[in-house]
Amino acid sequence: MNCVKNKAAIICLLFVACLIFNACKLVNGTDKSDAVNSNIMNEKPDEKWFSDQRNSMVDLIASYPSSHSVTDENILYAMKQVPRHKFVAENMQSNAYDDTPLPIGYGQTISQPFIVAYMTQMLDLKKTDRVLEIGTGSGYQAAVLSQVVPKGHIYTIEIIEELADAAKKLLSDLGYKNITVRHGDGYKGWKEFSPFDAVIVTCAPNDIPRALVDQLKIGGRMAIPVGGKIKGIWGAQELFLLKKTEKGMEQKKHFDVRFVPMVEEK
Ligand code: SAH
Repeated sequence: MNCVKNKAAIICLLFVACLIFNACKLVNGTDKSDAVNSNIMNEKPDEKWFSDQRNSMVDLIASYPSSHSVTDENILYAMKQVPRHKFVAENMQSNAYDDTPLPIGYGQTISQPFIVAYMTQMLDLKKTDRVLEIGTGSGYQAAVLSQVVPKGHIYTIEIIEELADAAKKLLSDLGYKNITVRHGDGYKGWKEFSPFDAVIVTCAPNDIPRALVDQLKIGGRMAIPVGGKIKGIWGAQELFLLKKTEKGMEQKKHFDVRFVPMVEEK
């Protein structure tokens, strides 16, 4: 009988000890993790941290498999120079060097860095090229292009006036001299500065806009996502490279992508 009582007492004691131990663990754990989190939150990442993150992101992009590879050293170098964290809101800056798109307001996104690098590579740019971009958004793609064509010029059109204004100010504050931003409808292109060596469209139309083809030089290249629904998925498109030749347009499909739609002005 005594033996049974003793066993019950020991089990009871063990149970209580367990409860106390777990309660302690919980408090310490909470205290500790709060301290760690608050350290992270309090310490604003500095430019060195951003630059290390940026270099790692570009190295990651450079390591992607051959179907999606970016090998052009000028482009990889440009991606290591442009401070993507300055093109997103402050609360998103610590994620600026994840290889993902991020929201920039007004229902729009800054493109995935890999896509920025890959589309830039598709254009096969020379340092003196004149490039038209449709869909300025944050201005990040324009900044990367600007580094790749230091003796050329980037003309970029954005349909949302607030985004166009913000990008114009940011690009000027960051010292980019060879970029001109305009609020307007990209379907019309920018006849005044045509013909262009290259056109890059960073929003997706259902069909290739005629004016953009007209405003390309012979020998000019266009990178453009096309379509509203691919393989039964809404919002998916195919990324094309078009080349304008004496005989007409050559086109090559690259891979499926997802961009925001190219909207038409009413
Ligand atoms: N290149 C941008 C990403 C752009 S997202 C960057 O680096 O951040 C696509 C942008 O295209 C959006 O800002 C959207 O407002 C714009 N857009 C959509 N339709 C357009 C049109 N018809 N003309 C110009 N811009 C357009």
